[in-house]
Amino acid sequence: MNRKVIIIGSGPAGLTAALYTARANLKPLVFEGSQPGGQLTITTDVENFPGFPDGIMGPKLMDLFRKQAERFGAECYFEHVTRIDFSKKPYRVWVADKEYQSESIIIATGATAKMLGLESEKELMGFGVSACATCDGFFFKEKKVLVVGGGDSAMEEANYLTKFASEVVIVHRRDEFRASKIMIDRAMSNPKIRVLWNSSIQEIFGSQEKGVRSVMIKKTDSDEKFEEKCDGVFMAIGHKPNTELFSKTLEMDDSGYLITKKDSTLTNIEGVFACGDVQDHVYRQAITAAGSGCMSAIDAERYLENSVE
Ligand code: NAP
Repeated sequence: MNRKVIIIGSGPAGLTAALYTARANLKPLVFEGSQPGGQLTITTDVENFPGFPDGIMGPKLMDLFRKQAERFGAECYFEHVTRIDFSKKPYRVWVADKEYQSESIIIATGATAKMLGLESEKELMGFGVSACATCDGFFFKEKKVLVVGGGDSAMEEANYLTKFASEVVIVHRRDEFRASKIMIDRAMSNPKIRVLWNSSIQEIFGSQEKGVRSVMIKKTDSDEKFEEKCDGVFMAIGHKPNTELFSKTLEMDDSGYLITKKDSTLTNIEGVFACGDVQDHVYRQAITAAGSGCMSAIDAERYLENSVE
C-alpha cells in the first residue's frame, strides 16, 4: 500500500510528528527502531519537560507520547528500517525483505551514545561497562564507579550513580568541565563524587565472569600513568547521530548530522524531512525534538497538499 507518510524513529520527535500527521488524517506509519521511545526510555526522572511540574519517568513519558499519537490513528511498529530508496517517488523503505512505499518520509532516528573505542570496553559492555547509569546503576550498590566525560550527561550520570555507589569518580580529559554551572555545582557538592582531571582511560581490566576490576589512567598533561581500581565504568562522552542509513542520499555535516534547510525540517530531497536529535547537535532536548517533530509534520502536510497531481 502506498502511504502518505512514513516516520522512521519513535523518540519525542518521531512520535510528535506521528501525532500531528495523524491529526491531519495522513495515517502515519511509524517504524519505532531498536529502541522504541528513544533515548528518554533509558533515563529516569525527566524534570524539564513542560507540563509535568513533579517530573515524570522517561519511559512513562514516551508511552504517553505513543498513546496520544495512536489515539488519532498512527500505526506504530516495533521494526527496524534496514534500507531506503529516495531516488524516485513513491519513496521506498524496507524492513528486512518487506517493502513499504510512501509519498513522504519523516526521519527521526535520533542519536546514540559514543564510546571510547577500546577493545576492552566492547568486551566488557554489559559486564561492568555501561553507557546508561539509569539502566545499570542499580547493579553497583556500595561499589566504586567511574564516569567518563565533562558535559551535562557526565554530571547527571555521576549524581544519579551516588544513589547506589559508595564512590563516584568523574574522569575528564581536560581541567574544566563543559557542563552547565547548575549541573557542575550539584555534582561538586555531592560528597560521594570526586574528579580525576586531565585524565583519560587507556584500558579497562576485568572479565565477563567477574566484571570490571580497574582501569589504566593516562594523564593528558604528563606521561604519568596509574591503575585505578573500580567496579564499573559509565561512558558519558556525547552522542553520534543515527544516519548510516542515509549516508549516500542525504546531506550531512562533518559529524554526520542531517542538514535541514533554514527554519524548516526540509532535507535536500523533496518530501523527505528530518527532525529531532538526528539533525540537532545544539539543543538536543526532548522538548526541542518534539517541537521539530511538529514542524516536520506540518512541512510534510504542506508538501503533500502541494504535490497532489
Ligand atoms: P557533550 O556536551 O558533548 O560532552 C561530552 C563530554 O565528553 C565532553 O566533556 C568531552 O570532553 C568528553 N569527551 C568526548 N569524547 C571523548 C573521548 N573520546 N574521551 C574522553 N572524553 C570525551 O555531551 P553530553 O554531556 O552528552 O551533552 C549533550 C547535550 O545534551 C548538551 O547540550 C547538554 O547540555 C545536554 N544535556 C542536558 C542535560 C540536562 O540539562 N539535564 C543532561 C544531559 C545532557 P571535552 O569537554 O574535552 O570536549
